[in-house]
Amino acid sequence: MTDTSHHQTDSHTGANGDGSTEEFVQQWRNAAYNCFSSGHKFCREVCPVMQVTRNESWTPTAFHANVVAMEKGELEIADIAEDYVNCTGCGACELRCPNTLFTGDFYRFRTRTVDMVKAVRALAVDNDVHQPGWQRWNLLTDERTHEPVLGDTPVSQEHVRDWSAGLDIPIGGETIMFVDCEAAFYRTSVPRAVAQILQLAGYEFGLMNEQWCCGGPAAEMGYLDQSKRFARHNLDDWRANGVKWVLVLDPHDYITFTEDYPKYFGEEYQDIEIVLVVELFAELIREGKLTPSIPIERTITYHDPCRLNKRKGVWREPREILSAIPGLVFNDVDRVTQWSYCSGGGGGLPIEKPELTAKISESRVDKAAELGVDTLVSACPWSERPLTEAGEARSIDVVDIHEILAESLGIEVGGRRGE
Ligand code: SF4
Ligand code: SF4
Repeated sequence: MTDTSHHQTDSHTGANGDGSTEEFVQQWRNAAYNCFSSGHKFCREVCPVMQVTRNESWTPTAFHANVVAMEKGELEIADIAEDYVNCTGCGACELRCPNTLFTGDFYRFRTRTVDMVKAVRALAVDNDVHQPGWQRWNLLTDERTHEPVLGDTPVSQEHVRDWSAGLDIPIGGETIMFVDCEAAFYRTSVPRAVAQILQLAGYEFGLMNEQWCCGGPAAEMGYLDQSKRFARHNLDDWRANGVKWVLVLDPHDYITFTEDYPKYFGEEYQDIEIVLVVELFAELIREGKLTPSIPIERTITYHDPCRLNKRKGVWREPREILSAIPGLVFNDVDRVTQWSYCSGGGGGLPIEKPELTAKISESRVDKAAELGVDTLVSACPWSERPLTEAGEARSIDVVDIHEILAESLGIEVGGRRGE
Protein backbone atom coordinates (compact mmCIF):
# COMPACT_ATOMS: atom_id res chain seq x y z
CA MET A 1 0.00 0.00 0.00
CA THR A 2 1.30 3.46 -0.86
CA ASP A 3 1.99 5.78 2.06
CA THR A 4 0.16 8.96 1.13
CA SER A 5 0.36 10.67 4.53
CA HIS A 6 3.04 13.07 3.32
CA HIS A 7 0.65 14.26 0.64
CA GLN A 8 -2.06 15.38 3.01
CA THR A 9 -2.89 19.06 2.70
CA ASP A 10 -5.84 21.29 3.23
CA SER A 11 -8.08 20.48 0.27
CA HIS A 12 -9.03 24.16 -0.01
CA THR A 13 -5.52 24.99 -1.06
CA GLY A 14 -5.42 22.30 -3.76
CA ALA A 15 -3.95 18.84 -3.51
CA ASN A 16 -0.38 19.87 -2.89
CA GLY A 17 -0.60 23.53 -2.41
CA ASP A 18 1.05 24.29 -5.76
CA GLY A 19 -0.76 26.61 -8.13
CA SER A 20 -0.86 24.44 -11.22
CA THR A 21 -2.42 21.48 -9.38
CA GLU A 22 -4.98 23.73 -7.73
CA GLU A 23 -5.95 25.23 -11.07
CA PHE A 24 -6.17 21.79 -12.63
CA VAL A 25 -8.37 20.42 -9.84
CA GLN A 26 -10.66 23.43 -10.00
CA GLN A 27 -11.09 22.99 -13.71
CA TRP A 28 -11.75 19.24 -13.64
CA ARG A 29 -13.36 18.53 -10.26
CA ASN A 30 -16.96 18.72 -11.52
CA ALA A 31 -16.26 16.31 -14.36
CA ALA A 32 -14.41 14.03 -11.96
CA TYR A 33 -17.24 13.96 -9.40
CA ASN A 34 -19.79 13.51 -12.18
CA CYS A 35 -18.04 10.30 -13.14
CA PHE A 36 -17.07 9.23 -9.61
CA SER A 37 -20.62 9.58 -8.30
CA SER A 38 -22.03 7.62 -11.24
CA GLY A 39 -19.40 4.94 -11.34
CA HIS A 40 -21.31 2.86 -13.86
CA LYS A 41 -18.21 2.05 -15.89
CA PHE A 42 -20.08 1.76 -19.18
CA CYS A 43 -16.92 3.10 -20.77
CA ARG A 44 -14.70 0.16 -19.75
CA GLU A 45 -15.42 -2.28 -22.51
CA VAL A 46 -15.12 0.16 -25.39
CA CYS A 47 -11.70 1.36 -24.22
CA PRO A 48 -9.05 -0.22 -26.47
CA VAL A 49 -6.43 -0.16 -23.72
CA MET A 50 -8.77 -1.87 -21.24
CA GLN A 51 -9.68 -4.45 -23.86
CA VAL A 52 -6.11 -5.70 -24.13
CA THR A 53 -4.78 -5.07 -20.60
CA ARG A 54 -7.76 -5.51 -18.22
CA ASN A 55 -5.95 -3.05 -15.95
CA GLU A 56 -8.47 -1.15 -13.80
CA SER A 57 -5.99 1.68 -13.20
CA TRP A 58 -6.04 2.42 -16.91
CA THR A 59 -9.72 3.14 -17.38
CA PRO A 60 -11.64 6.41 -17.78
CA THR A 61 -13.22 5.68 -14.39
CA ALA A 62 -9.85 5.51 -12.66
CA PHE A 63 -8.64 8.57 -14.58
CA HIS A 64 -11.54 10.57 -13.12
CA ALA A 65 -11.33 9.03 -9.62
CA ASN A 66 -7.70 10.11 -9.36
CA VAL A 67 -8.78 13.72 -9.77
CA VAL A 68 -11.16 13.33 -6.83
CA ALA A 69 -8.27 11.89 -4.80
CA MET A 70 -6.05 14.79 -5.87
CA GLU A 71 -8.65 17.25 -4.69
CA LYS A 72 -8.70 15.54 -1.31
CA GLY A 73 -4.92 15.68 -1.15
CA GLU A 74 -4.55 11.91 -1.19
CA LEU A 75 -2.61 11.72 -4.43
CA GLU A 76 -0.26 14.02 -6.25
CA ILE A 77 0.62 14.18 -9.91
CA ALA A 78 3.86 12.21 -9.55
CA ASP A 79 1.89 9.24 -8.16
CA ILE A 80 -0.37 8.90 -11.16
CA ALA A 81 1.23 10.53 -14.21
CA GLU A 82 2.50 7.22 -15.60
CA ASP A 83 -1.00 5.69 -15.60
CA TYR A 84 -2.17 8.39 -18.01
CA VAL A 85 0.22 7.11 -20.68
CA ASN A 86 -2.34 4.36 -21.24
CA CYS A 87 -4.81 6.28 -23.39
CA THR A 88 -4.86 6.61 -27.17
CA GLY A 89 -7.19 9.61 -27.09
CA CYS A 90 -9.70 7.64 -29.17
CA GLY A 91 -12.80 9.18 -27.58
CA ALA A 92 -14.78 5.91 -27.39
CA CYS A 93 -15.36 6.34 -23.66
CA GLU A 94 -16.88 9.78 -24.19
CA LEU A 95 -19.39 8.43 -26.68
CA ARG A 96 -20.32 5.49 -24.46
CA CYS A 97 -20.62 7.51 -21.25
CA PRO A 98 -24.29 8.03 -20.30
CA ASN A 99 -23.33 11.41 -18.89
CA THR A 100 -22.66 12.40 -22.49
CA LEU A 101 -25.55 10.56 -24.10
CA PHE A 102 -28.20 12.16 -21.89
CA THR A 103 -27.31 15.73 -22.76
CA GLY A 104 -29.89 18.21 -23.96
CA ASP A 105 -30.73 21.86 -23.69
CA PHE A 106 -31.56 21.35 -20.04
CA TYR A 107 -28.34 19.54 -19.14
CA ARG A 108 -25.22 20.74 -20.82
CA PHE A 109 -22.58 18.51 -19.31
CA ARG A 110 -20.43 16.47 -21.64
CA THR A 111 -17.83 13.95 -20.53
CA ARG A 112 -14.44 15.07 -21.89
CA THR A 113 -12.05 12.31 -20.92
CA VAL A 114 -9.65 13.00 -23.79
CA ASP A 115 -9.17 16.64 -22.78
CA MET A 116 -8.86 15.64 -19.13
CA VAL A 117 -6.13 13.11 -19.93
CA LYS A 118 -4.30 15.78 -21.93
CA ALA A 119 -4.65 18.18 -18.98
CA VAL A 120 -3.16 15.61 -16.57
CA ARG A 121 -0.25 15.07 -18.92
CA ALA A 122 0.31 18.85 -19.15
CA LEU A 123 0.16 19.11 -15.37
CA ALA A 124 2.82 16.40 -15.14
CA VAL A 125 5.19 18.22 -17.49
CA ASP A 126 4.48 21.46 -15.65
CA ASN A 127 5.61 19.72 -12.45
CA ASP A 128 8.70 18.28 -14.13
CA VAL A 129 7.32 14.75 -14.14
CA HIS A 130 8.33 13.27 -17.48
CA GLN A 131 7.83 9.99 -19.31
CA PRO A 132 11.26 9.17 -20.77
CA GLY A 133 10.06 8.27 -24.27
CA TRP A 134 7.83 11.32 -24.57
CA GLN A 135 10.51 13.65 -23.25
CA ARG A 136 13.03 12.36 -25.78
CA TRP A 137 10.47 12.47 -28.60
CA ASN A 138 9.60 16.09 -27.92
CA LEU A 139 13.25 17.13 -27.60
CA LEU A 140 13.97 15.56 -30.97
CA THR A 141 10.85 17.14 -32.48
CA ASP A 142 12.06 20.51 -31.22
CA GLU A 143 15.50 19.97 -32.76
CA ARG A 144 14.24 18.76 -36.13
CA THR A 145 10.98 20.73 -36.30
CA HIS A 146 9.27 17.43 -37.17
CA GLU A 147 8.45 14.32 -35.22
CA PRO A 148 11.25 11.75 -35.18
CA VAL A 149 8.93 9.31 -36.94
CA LEU A 150 9.33 5.91 -35.26
CA GLY A 151 12.20 3.74 -36.46
CA ASP A 152 15.18 4.82 -38.53
CA THR A 153 13.46 7.14 -41.01
CA PRO A 154 15.68 10.23 -41.39
CA VAL A 155 13.75 13.40 -40.56
CA SER A 156 14.83 16.99 -41.12
CA GLN A 157 13.43 20.35 -42.24
CA GLU A 158 15.22 20.27 -45.59
CA HIS A 159 13.50 16.98 -46.54
CA VAL A 160 9.93 17.81 -45.54
CA ARG A 161 8.84 18.32 -49.14
CA ASP A 162 10.77 15.37 -50.59
CA TRP A 163 7.56 13.33 -50.86
CA SER A 164 6.37 15.68 -53.63
CA ALA A 165 9.31 15.04 -55.98
CA GLY A 166 8.26 15.34 -59.62
CA LEU A 167 4.72 16.57 -58.87
CA ASP A 168 5.44 20.19 -59.67
CA ILE A 169 3.60 21.73 -56.70
CA PRO A 170 4.33 25.43 -56.14
CA ILE A 171 5.19 27.00 -52.80
CA GLY A 172 2.57 29.26 -51.22
CA GLY A 173 -0.78 30.45 -52.52
CA GLU A 174 -4.18 30.93 -50.89
CA THR A 175 -4.69 27.17 -50.57
CA ILE A 176 -1.96 25.01 -49.14
CA MET A 177 -1.71 21.31 -48.38
CA PHE A 178 -0.42 20.31 -44.95
CA VAL A 179 1.20 16.88 -44.66
CA ASP A 180 1.67 15.20 -41.28
CA CYS A 181 5.13 13.98 -40.25
CA GLU A 182 4.35 10.26 -40.67
CA ALA A 183 3.07 10.73 -44.23
CA ALA A 184 5.75 13.27 -45.22
CA PHE A 185 8.64 11.06 -44.16
CA TYR A 186 7.37 7.48 -43.92
CA ARG A 187 4.24 6.70 -45.94
CA THR A 188 4.89 9.14 -48.78
CA SER A 189 2.42 7.37 -51.06
CA VAL A 190 -0.44 8.99 -49.11
CA PRO A 191 0.36 12.67 -49.73
CA ARG A 192 1.36 11.81 -53.30
CA ALA A 193 -2.04 10.22 -53.86
CA VAL A 194 -3.85 13.22 -52.33
CA ALA A 195 -1.85 15.78 -54.33
CA GLN A 196 -2.40 13.97 -57.62
CA ILE A 197 -6.14 13.57 -57.03
CA LEU A 198 -6.34 17.31 -56.33
CA GLN A 199 -4.40 18.01 -59.53
CA LEU A 200 -6.69 15.71 -61.51
CA ALA A 201 -9.72 17.59 -60.17
CA GLY A 202 -8.14 20.88 -61.27
CA TYR A 203 -7.41 22.21 -57.79
CA GLU A 204 -4.78 24.92 -57.41
CA PHE A 205 -2.78 24.53 -54.23
CA GLY A 206 0.73 24.96 -52.91
CA LEU A 207 2.97 23.78 -50.10
CA MET A 208 4.07 25.76 -47.10
CA ASN A 209 7.19 27.83 -47.26
CA GLU A 210 8.47 26.14 -44.10
CA GLN A 211 6.12 23.55 -42.65
CA TRP A 212 6.78 22.42 -39.08
CA CYS A 213 5.02 19.64 -37.16
CA CYS A 214 1.49 20.81 -36.35
CA GLY A 215 2.28 20.69 -32.62
CA GLY A 216 -0.65 18.41 -31.83
CA PRO A 217 1.43 15.45 -30.63
CA ALA A 218 3.39 17.70 -28.24
CA ALA A 219 0.08 18.89 -26.77
CA GLU A 220 -1.14 15.30 -26.46
CA MET A 221 1.97 14.36 -24.46
CA GLY A 222 1.70 17.42 -22.22
CA TYR A 223 4.33 19.66 -23.82
CA LEU A 224 1.99 22.60 -24.29
CA ASP A 225 4.55 25.40 -24.66
CA GLN A 226 6.26 23.50 -27.44
CA SER A 227 2.92 22.85 -29.11
CA LYS A 228 2.08 26.55 -29.04
CA ARG A 229 5.48 27.54 -30.45
CA PHE A 230 5.01 25.15 -33.36
CA ALA A 231 1.48 26.36 -33.96
CA ARG A 232 2.68 29.98 -33.95
CA HIS A 233 5.31 29.18 -36.55
CA ASN A 234 2.81 27.49 -38.86
CA LEU A 235 0.23 30.26 -38.53
CA ASP A 236 2.92 32.89 -39.25
CA ASP A 237 3.95 30.93 -42.35
CA TRP A 238 0.33 30.83 -43.53
CA ARG A 239 -0.07 34.58 -42.92
CA ALA A 240 3.14 35.41 -44.76
CA ASN A 241 1.78 33.57 -47.80
CA GLY A 242 -1.80 34.88 -47.62
CA VAL A 243 -3.21 31.41 -46.92
CA LYS A 244 -6.99 31.12 -46.56
CA TRP A 245 -7.58 27.38 -46.90
CA VAL A 246 -5.52 24.54 -45.43
CA LEU A 247 -6.05 21.11 -46.96
CA VAL A 248 -5.51 18.33 -44.44
CA LEU A 249 -5.27 14.58 -45.01
CA ASP A 250 -4.36 13.41 -41.51
CA PRO A 251 -7.06 13.13 -38.82
CA HIS A 252 -4.57 14.11 -36.10
CA ASP A 253 -3.72 17.36 -37.91
CA TYR A 254 -7.42 17.92 -38.44
CA ILE A 255 -8.07 17.72 -34.68
CA THR A 256 -5.11 19.99 -33.94
CA PHE A 257 -6.14 22.66 -36.45
CA THR A 258 -9.82 22.58 -35.50
CA GLU A 259 -9.52 22.17 -31.72
CA ASP A 260 -6.07 23.25 -30.48
CA TYR A 261 -5.31 26.21 -32.79
CA PRO A 262 -8.65 27.97 -32.11
CA LYS A 263 -7.87 27.72 -28.37
CA TYR A 264 -4.36 29.09 -28.91
CA PHE A 265 -5.24 31.94 -31.28
CA GLY A 266 -8.91 32.82 -30.78
CA GLU A 267 -10.17 35.51 -33.15
CA GLU A 268 -6.83 35.81 -34.89
CA TYR A 269 -7.46 32.41 -36.42
CA GLN A 270 -11.10 32.75 -37.42
CA ASP A 271 -10.58 33.45 -41.11
CA ILE A 272 -8.53 30.30 -41.82
CA GLU A 273 -10.62 27.41 -43.13
CA ILE A 274 -9.48 23.85 -42.56
CA VAL A 275 -10.57 21.42 -45.28
CA LEU A 276 -10.47 17.68 -44.71
CA VAL A 277 -9.64 16.15 -48.08
CA VAL A 278 -11.65 12.98 -47.49
CA GLU A 279 -14.76 15.20 -47.24
CA LEU A 280 -13.69 17.20 -50.28
CA PHE A 281 -13.13 14.07 -52.38
CA ALA A 282 -16.54 12.66 -51.43
CA GLU A 283 -18.09 15.95 -52.55
CA LEU A 284 -16.17 15.94 -55.84
CA ILE A 285 -17.35 12.38 -56.52
CA ARG A 286 -20.95 13.38 -55.72
CA GLU A 287 -20.68 16.31 -58.14
CA GLY A 288 -19.23 14.12 -60.87
CA LYS A 289 -15.89 15.96 -60.85
CA LEU A 290 -14.02 12.80 -59.90
CA THR A 291 -15.11 9.45 -61.30
CA PRO A 292 -13.22 6.38 -60.11
CA SER A 293 -13.54 3.96 -63.02
CA ILE A 294 -10.73 1.41 -62.84
CA PRO A 295 -12.01 -1.68 -61.01
CA ILE A 296 -10.12 -2.66 -57.87
CA GLU A 297 -10.63 -6.36 -57.19
CA ARG A 298 -10.34 -6.49 -53.41
CA THR A 299 -12.59 -7.51 -50.55
CA ILE A 300 -12.28 -4.73 -48.02
CA THR A 301 -13.48 -3.36 -44.75
CA TYR A 302 -12.95 0.16 -43.50
CA HIS A 303 -11.13 1.20 -40.32
CA ASP A 304 -12.72 4.38 -38.98
CA PRO A 305 -9.88 6.49 -37.60
CA CYS A 306 -10.88 7.45 -34.05
CA ARG A 307 -10.21 11.13 -34.65
CA LEU A 308 -12.51 11.19 -37.67
CA ASN A 309 -15.46 9.12 -36.58
CA LYS A 310 -15.59 9.12 -32.80
CA ARG A 311 -14.19 12.59 -32.30
CA LYS A 312 -15.36 14.53 -35.37
CA GLY A 313 -18.38 12.58 -36.57
CA VAL A 314 -16.88 11.99 -40.04
CA TRP A 315 -17.97 8.51 -41.11
CA ARG A 316 -20.25 8.87 -44.15
CA GLU A 317 -17.79 10.44 -46.58
CA PRO A 318 -15.13 7.71 -46.51
CA ARG A 319 -17.90 5.16 -47.12
CA GLU A 320 -19.23 7.22 -50.03
CA ILE A 321 -15.77 7.16 -51.59
CA LEU A 322 -15.33 3.42 -51.12
CA SER A 323 -18.81 2.70 -52.47
CA ALA A 324 -17.97 4.68 -55.62
CA ILE A 325 -14.93 2.51 -56.47
CA PRO A 326 -15.87 -0.26 -58.93
CA GLY A 327 -14.79 -3.82 -58.20
CA LEU A 328 -14.55 -3.45 -54.43
CA VAL A 329 -16.52 -5.82 -52.23
CA PHE A 330 -17.13 -3.74 -49.09
CA ASN A 331 -17.88 -5.67 -45.88
CA ASP A 332 -18.64 -2.88 -43.46
CA VAL A 333 -19.10 -3.11 -39.70
CA ASP A 334 -22.13 -1.60 -38.05
CA ARG A 335 -21.80 1.95 -36.89
CA VAL A 336 -21.99 1.22 -33.18
CA THR A 337 -19.61 -1.74 -33.05
CA GLN A 338 -16.81 0.23 -34.66
CA TRP A 339 -16.86 2.71 -31.77
CA SER A 340 -14.69 0.30 -29.85
CA TYR A 341 -12.17 -0.17 -32.68
CA CYS A 342 -8.81 1.58 -32.51
CA SER A 343 -5.36 0.96 -33.99
CA GLY A 344 -3.56 1.94 -30.78
CA GLY A 345 -1.47 4.39 -32.79
CA GLY A 346 -2.69 7.63 -31.19
CA GLY A 347 -2.09 9.68 -28.07
CA GLY A 348 1.64 8.96 -27.96
CA LEU A 349 1.00 5.34 -26.91
CA PRO A 350 3.36 3.75 -29.49
CA ILE A 351 6.24 5.87 -28.22
CA GLU A 352 6.00 4.75 -24.60
CA LYS A 353 4.27 1.38 -25.03
CA PRO A 354 4.79 -0.06 -28.52
CA GLU A 355 3.78 -3.50 -27.26
CA LEU A 356 0.34 -2.18 -26.29
CA THR A 357 -0.12 -0.47 -29.64
CA ALA A 358 0.79 -3.76 -31.34
CA LYS A 359 -1.77 -5.68 -29.28
CA ILE A 360 -4.53 -3.18 -30.03
CA SER A 361 -3.71 -3.29 -33.75
CA GLU A 362 -3.70 -7.10 -33.68
CA SER A 363 -7.12 -7.07 -32.10
CA ARG A 364 -8.38 -4.61 -34.76
CA VAL A 365 -7.03 -6.73 -37.61
CA ASP A 366 -8.56 -9.87 -36.04
CA LYS A 367 -11.95 -8.16 -36.25
CA ALA A 368 -11.31 -7.38 -39.92
CA ALA A 369 -10.34 -11.01 -40.53
CA GLU A 370 -13.72 -12.14 -39.14
CA LEU A 371 -15.33 -10.30 -42.06
CA GLY A 372 -13.38 -12.42 -44.54
CA VAL A 373 -11.55 -9.49 -46.15
CA ASP A 374 -8.14 -9.34 -47.83
CA THR A 375 -7.74 -5.58 -47.29
CA LEU A 376 -8.25 -3.13 -44.45
CA VAL A 377 -8.66 0.45 -45.67
CA SER A 378 -7.80 3.29 -43.30
CA ALA A 379 -7.83 7.07 -43.60
CA CYS A 380 -5.12 7.80 -41.05
CA PRO A 381 -1.39 7.45 -41.80
CA TRP A 382 -0.57 7.03 -38.09
CA SER A 383 -2.79 3.94 -37.86
CA GLU A 384 -1.38 2.37 -40.99
CA ARG A 385 2.03 1.40 -39.65
CA PRO A 386 0.86 -0.67 -36.64
CA LEU A 387 -2.09 -2.06 -38.62
CA THR A 388 0.23 -3.06 -41.47
CA GLU A 389 2.52 -4.89 -39.04
CA ALA A 390 -0.46 -6.74 -37.55
CA GLY A 391 -1.91 -7.37 -41.01
CA GLU A 392 1.23 -9.05 -42.28
CA ALA A 393 0.78 -11.95 -39.87
CA ARG A 394 -2.83 -12.39 -41.02
CA SER A 395 -2.35 -11.80 -44.77
CA ILE A 396 -4.45 -8.65 -44.68
CA ASP A 397 -3.14 -5.74 -46.69
CA VAL A 398 -3.52 -2.28 -45.18
CA VAL A 399 -4.21 0.47 -47.70
CA ASP A 400 -4.94 4.16 -47.30
CA ILE A 401 -8.26 5.39 -48.70
CA HIS A 402 -6.50 8.07 -50.77
CA GLU A 403 -4.15 5.47 -52.25
CA ILE A 404 -7.00 3.21 -53.30
CA LEU A 405 -9.04 6.12 -54.73
CA ALA A 406 -6.02 7.30 -56.74
CA GLU A 407 -5.55 3.80 -58.13
CA SER A 408 -9.15 3.67 -59.29
CA LEU A 409 -8.70 7.08 -60.91
CA GLY A 410 -5.80 5.69 -62.94
CA ILE A 411 -3.09 7.58 -61.08
CA GLU A 412 0.40 6.08 -60.72
CA VAL A 413 0.99 7.23 -57.17
CA GLY A 414 4.68 6.47 -56.60
CA GLY A 415 6.37 7.09 -53.25
CA ARG A 416 6.64 4.53 -50.46
CA ARG A 417 4.06 2.69 -48.39
CA GLY A 418 6.43 2.69 -45.43
CA GLU A 419 9.90 1.22 -45.36
S1 SF4 B 1 -16.50 7.95 -17.82
FE1 SF4 B 1 -18.74 7.93 -17.96
S2 SF4 B 1 -19.28 5.74 -18.35
FE2 SF4 B 1 -17.20 5.80 -17.56
S3 SF4 B 1 -17.47 5.47 -15.34
FE3 SF4 B 1 -17.29 7.68 -15.72
S4 SF4 B 1 -19.41 8.37 -15.85
FE4 SF4 B 1 -19.45 6.12 -16.12
S1 SF4 C 1 -9.98 7.99 -24.96
FE1 SF4 C 1 -9.96 5.85 -25.67
S2 SF4 C 1 -8.04 4.97 -24.86
FE2 SF4 C 1 -8.47 6.88 -23.70
S3 SF4 C 1 -9.57 6.23 -21.88
FE3 SF4 C 1 -11.11 6.77 -23.46
S4 SF4 C 1 -11.59 4.82 -24.51
FE4 SF4 C 1 -9.67 4.52 -23.36
